[in-house]
Amino acid sequence: MDHSAPSSWTGRRVLVVEDSVVQRGYLVGLLRQLEFGEILEAGDGNEALQILEHGTEPVFLVLTDLEMPGMDGIELTCQLRERRLTENLIVVSARDPRLLEIIESMACEDASIGLLGTLLKPVQLEPLTQLLCKAGGRGKDCAPAAPSTLPPQATLEELARALANNEFLPHFQPKVAMANGQLKGVEALARWQHPQRGLLSPAHFIDTLEGTPLMADFTLALVQQVLQRMLDWRQAGLPPLTVSVNLSAENLADRSFIDRLTAQVMASGVAPSSLVWEVTETSVMRQLSQALTNMGRLRLMGFGLAMDDFGIGYSSMQQFARCPFTELKIDRAFVNGAAQWPNRHMVLKSALDLGQSLGVATVAEGVETEEDWKLLRDLGCDMAQGYLLSRPMPAEALVGWMRQDRRRLRALAGSE
Ligand code: C2E
Ligand code: CA
Ligand code: CA
Repeated sequence: MDHSAPSSWTGRRVLVVEDSVVQRGYLVGLLRQLEFGEILEAGDGNEALQILEHGTEPVFLVLTDLEMPGMDGIELTCQLRERRLTENLIVVSARDPRLLEIIESMACEDASIGLLGTLLKPVQLEPLTQLLCKAGGRGKDCAPAAPSTLPPQATLEELARALANNEFLPHFQPKVAMANGQLKGVEALARWQHPQRGLLSPAHFIDTLEGTPLMADFTLALVQQVLQRMLDWRQAGLPPLTVSVNLSAENLADRSFIDRLTAQVMASGVAPSSLVWEVTETSVMRQLSQALTNMGRLRLMGFGLAMDDFGIGYSSMQQFARCPFTELKIDRAFVNGAAQWPNRHMVLKSALDLGQSLGVATVAEGVETEEDWKLLRDLGCDMAQGYLLSRPMPAEALVGWMRQDRRRLRALAGSE
């Protein structure tokens, strides 16, 4: 390519993750040719995460192999996505193009990962350059970058004001039994009723709230509304529903928050057994001993506990067995499109086996098609949640939805 104008990556930091020393040397050589700045190297995903977490400057690109001992490329991709540790990612693989397909589909659901694409080994200079041009390249050989699809995060001041004005509210998404199509429960998902911008999803505010003292008040305000809705539904004659609520990492580790939370539930008259707290593996791991203690307390009081986003963490199986969960929710990266992509069945099957062997309910998230529903049912999954059943909806809509969709759900459960 013509080097008279600098490319967008010239002089930027890059991390190469590859277990083979020879391959790694080869990739480093290619990146030097492309005039990257500092080139960091790691032998597997764990080492990569350590480097990224302790680095002071952001990394422009992670170029990772897929098959590695220790933490492999799929797990690393999940971690990078969750923790937003790099601006851009390229995944390379020697073998199976179908494996690369998983990575690509994980990325199209989530713009935060900035996946530029995947490459088969041996990596050639030209396709690598083409992918790099997608990273907002300003070099003259590059097409203009696609605009970022990540919504802008509100500032903490805006969020504090919104909280004071009661602008957050829960929407609810049904969880349905796969055996008979019955509504078993709902997940409460936060929404921001913004006075000017309309209804906003958590993508606009959750990341900003994470790690701040506001998060406790935010969760408690949401739970207060959830409890009121549960009492309303009971009065309207709905069958008993469990309601799941998402807790953040700091919620889970904070003893005084847990005290306030449980006091609030006790005062409401709602039975603890009709509430499920959803936590992710990353939240549990962040402050393991406090999290374990608090989870134990919540279970003792009779609350349900769900492991959320199962499958995208890095030591899922071992961690899961140590924690007193009552429910396992399989991340939609492994559910969505599972019928089309047989190589995801393995992950699904092992997650479902694990749930069954530990005697906890299994929930598939992100069920969007009838094919996925059938596959999951055949694999023995207990419950499904996803757009096929319903999008999250306001509390008032739930009764109408139940009436209207009862027959459709029963037919779905009975379908061949
Ligand atoms: P999550 O807990 O994994 O929630 C499921 C997300 O998947 C929801 O996004 C839901 O709308 C979406 N979803 C459900 N079915 C489908 C489907 O079939 N296809 C697709 N593509 N997506 C589906 P939402 O409501 O935007 O929430 C995003 C995340 O924000 C949640 O992920 C959760 O981590 C966080 N969040 C939401 N409400 C709260 C809250 O009250 N507290 C905390 N700490 N986090 C929350
Ligand atoms: Ca959840
Ligand atoms: Ca989830």
